[in-house]
This record gives sequence, structure tokens and C-alpha cells, in this order.
Amino acid sequence: MRLSHLRICNVFVVLLCIGTSLTSCSGPSDSNSGPLERISNHVQEMADDGMEGRETGTAGEAKASAWIDSIFKSQGLTPMGEDGSFQMFSYKPHPPMQMHGHGDSTSIGMALVQEIHGQNVLYALPQNNQRWGVIGAHYDHLGYGDDNSLFRGDPQIHNGADDNASGVAGMLELSNRFSNKNEPQSLLFAAFSGEEKGLWGSNQFCKKPTVSLDSIDYMINFDMIGRLRGDTLAVYGTGTSPRWMELLESCNDEGFVFIPSESGVGPSDHTSFYLEGIPVLHFFTGQHPDYHKPSDTADKINAEGILRIVNFVERLMVRLNSEDEWIFTKTKDQDDESTPSFKVTLGVIPDYLFDGEGMRIDGVSDGRPAANAGMIRGDVVKQIDTTIVTDMMSYMTALSLFEPGIESNVTIERKGKLEQVIVLWD
Ligand SMILES: [Zn+2]
Repeated sequence: MRLSHLRICNVFVVLLCIGTSLTSCSGPSDSNSGPLERISNHVQEMADDGMEGRETGTAGEAKASAWIDSIFKSQGLTPMGEDGSFQMFSYKPHPPMQMHGHGDSTSIGMALVQEIHGQNVLYALPQNNQRWGVIGAHYDHLGYGDDNSLFRGDPQIHNGADDNASGVAGMLELSNRFSNKNEPQSLLFAAFSGEEKGLWGSNQFCKKPTVSLDSIDYMINFDMIGRLRGDTLAVYGTGTSPRWMELLESCNDEGFVFIPSESGVGPSDHTSFYLEGIPVLHFFTGQHPDYHKPSDTADKINAEGILRIVNFVERLMVRLNSEDEWIFTKTKDQDDESTPSFKVTLGVIPDYLFDGEGMRIDGVSDGRPAANAGMIRGDVVKQIDTTIVTDMMSYMTALSLFEPGIESNVTIERKGKLEQVIVLWD
């Protein structure tokens, strides 16, 4: 998943298409093992040091894409890329200062920015019915720690077990199951790359789709589903079709407690599909202190949790595949009037699963306004100057009011007590 403070500004990334290469890898493992073992193995293989953090444009990405390709192939799916199963893209990133000009990243000049090549891995279960459901999960991560890393030490492999070996493992389990069914609807399984860089792979797919976008009924995104705690499951995009909540509840044999969020715009690949008018859902098991750090490792993954989510989504997809009429609705984030755009951020990771009043902080970036003002993980932002913060939307609305270089009074709740801090926006 992408860093939340970049969530709005990188949605409309434009891409071009060029090729890259892949390397060989170990063969598929697993047709005889049970689902839990398979999921565990897949997370471990993807998050292995040998994959070197799977950064887009690196040997680690090539190795991971070849490995995913071999699993899909062993399941008997049909390649659905541009030439075989791969869909290549290339992109020249903006200098970091154009995205968020602060700190030492401004020292990286235009001259050092090189084009990066990446590739999606696309496989399908086509049926005569040419209506498609898309299940996506990004497989790229931060390599040895790119600009999106929240780790401040020497370069280290960022294994990205939750982000997003967990989602890929869930998707591969679903493709395995549906390859043995004869569902009426065509299904496309998409392992996207470039997600961490700015949703590049999913943008590329939506720009040069290998099945017509008009024929896609829904897109389900798994991004960070490896840390299920209890029964709490975040589901984003519930406002992108009027049927979603009813369908989710009616398929909920797992007893999940959903934390729904209506918006189709979020920090992951479903956003690309939502912006094309396709109903989306993003499943997410919540933030944690290991997010975008080398400590996001396979031993911390709740494989049983992934299995429960897979069981649930399988049931949901069977239901969806039998739907005749399907409706898209724009959510409020798509509405220009209510979409806040902002030039400043606190430099925090919001806790998306927090359902109290305010914006709870799940992590702070060193050297950014929140950290500089002494804010810590667990603080809940209640008010910024005169704007009351009740949720993520009002937090973003508040941010839109400020410019770099000015100061604001921020009211936070820490251990049940309200405190005031002064934030200097950068
Ligand atoms: Zn991420």
C-alpha cells in the first residue's frame, strides 16, 4: 500500500509502455498441500530475502514476477498480458520534491531521475460470458528501502510480507480455487507492479486494458490482508456500488466485523479502476508499526486470517458472478467540490481502522511536522486551528487550509487527555 500522505496527489499518474526482462526461478510448489500451508508458503516465498524486496525495475521484481507466473501457469490459467502473461510499462518518476518538497529528498535533482521499467503479471479464467471480474494484488515493494520507506537506518531488505505478499497469496489461493470451478463469469487475476511508486501497474492496465474496461463488472483488491486481528476487517470502496454492503453482509459466514469506507479513492490499485467507473472493493487488515519497514516479515503474518478472507471473498465472488445487473456509483471523493487538495501534511500514518472521533496516528515520520511537534503513535488529532477533525475526510479538509511555513494549533487526545501542540507546516 502507498504512503497515505501521497494518496491524493499520485492518483492521476500517466504512463507509457516499454519492455523489460525476467529471470528464471524455482518452480511451483504446491498442488498437494492444504490451503493454509499453501498460503503460508506463498507468503514466505514472496517475502524471502532472495526476492530483495521486489522493488519495481530491479532484479527482485523480475524474480518475483517470474515466480508468480509459474504459480498461475501451474494452476492452468490462460495468459492475459500483452505478449503472453506480462504487461510491461515504463515510467519516469517525478523528482520527489514535486510530490512533497521537504527534507533531504529535495536534494535529488532532475538529472538523477531515470526511467523505471516494470511489469504486471496477468492471467485469466475466460468464459463464454464476456463479463469480467478482476481480482488484483500488487507484488512490488520497497526493495532495500526506497523513498517510501519509513525506516531510517542503513539500506536493508524490505520483505513486504504484509505489504503485499499477503495479498498475492490470497489472490493465488482464489485463482487456484476458481480454476477448479466452472463459474459463469470470466475472471482476471492481476499481479500489479509499480504500486508503491504510484499505482503505475494498475494505471497501465487501465490505459491499455487487455480485456475491455466496459466488460469489467467489479475489481477486488487485496492489499495488506496479512495482519487480521480478531474479526475486524476494513473494506474500502463500499460506496462504489449501492449493492456492496448488502452483498458483504449476506456472504459474511466468517463473522467479520467490517469497517467500511465508501470512497473508491484510496492508497492502492483499486483507485485506478474506480476512476474508470468500475465498482471496487479493497480489503485491508489494518496498519501496524512494521508498515514500510524491514520488520514487515513473514513470521508476523496471520495466515489463518488470510484464509478466512479468501473463504469470504470466494463466497462473495460466486454471488457476484450470478448478478445480472450491476451498478456503479461515484463516491464523494470523486466530487470536485468535496475533494480536498492540500499542500501540507503532518507526516503521519493514519489508523484507517480507528472508528472513534478524530484521526488516530499509527506512525510518525522523523523530521516531519507531527514528529517535530512531539506527536506520537496513538495520539488522536481532534482539531487543527478552527477545524474540528472527526474522520479522515475532515482531516484532509483541514489540511487543505494551510500553506508550508505557517503554524497551527493542533488539539490532540493522548491517554484520554486533551493537549495542545504547535505544528509548523513544511
Ligand atoms: Zn506499501
